[in-house]
Amino acid sequence: MRPSRGTTPPPDRPARCREHSHEPACMTKPADLDRRLARVQLLLLDVDGVLTDGGVTWNNQGIESKTFHIRDGLGLKLWQRAGGRTGIVTGRSSHVVQLRAGELGIGIVRQGVEDKLATAAAVLAECGVSWEETAFIGDDLPDLPVIARCGAGIAVADACAEVRAAAALVTTLPGGRGAVREAIEHLLRARGGWEAVVARYSLRAG
Ligand SMILES: [Mg+2]
Repeated sequence: MRPSRGTTPPPDRPARCREHSHEPACMTKPADLDRRLARVQLLLLDVDGVLTDGGVTWNNQGIESKTFHIRDGLGLKLWQRAGGRTGIVTGRSSHVVQLRAGELGIGIVRQGVEDKLATAAAVLAECGVSWEETAFIGDDLPDLPVIARCGAGIAVADACAEVRAAAALVTTLPGGRGAVREAIEHLLRARGGWEAVVARYSLRAG
């Protein structure tokens, strides 16, 4: 029987797989996941299907628009405030991605990328970080080589089965619906910084 939200999954099924229990691609969370997440210095992101839900809208003038999730945006700012670096590596090219990256202070933007692994390697070299210090959030097959190579490969909940299987962490939220924010919470919790972030807002509220 499929468990409803909020119930404890059976012990033989990883909690993060409950939304995809019918698909065999889910894998058990690595025992060293927290250590891997805590090492991350550079967070690389795909755009379509990760920062968006994968939808691409064109108007009659041929101008493309995308919808971004506001909580992903705050999450990325919190990540950068905590000292984390962020970059975008995407296969498509659109002006709106440059605008969104500018709004969020993301200086590393690689669009129109055919080989994400080679491009990510070049970004790592520029930033002086290792693969073990890198996380990548993806959703589809072009992301697979980077997901498999970096220390913390992260798949959004609605990523294709192969990407979810290769990832060290699968978010519970889908792309464009807060998955990036969720992943950043995991990264900050692993390095012990999430409580401080919440405390700042709690103090303001008090
Ligand atoms: Mg994608």
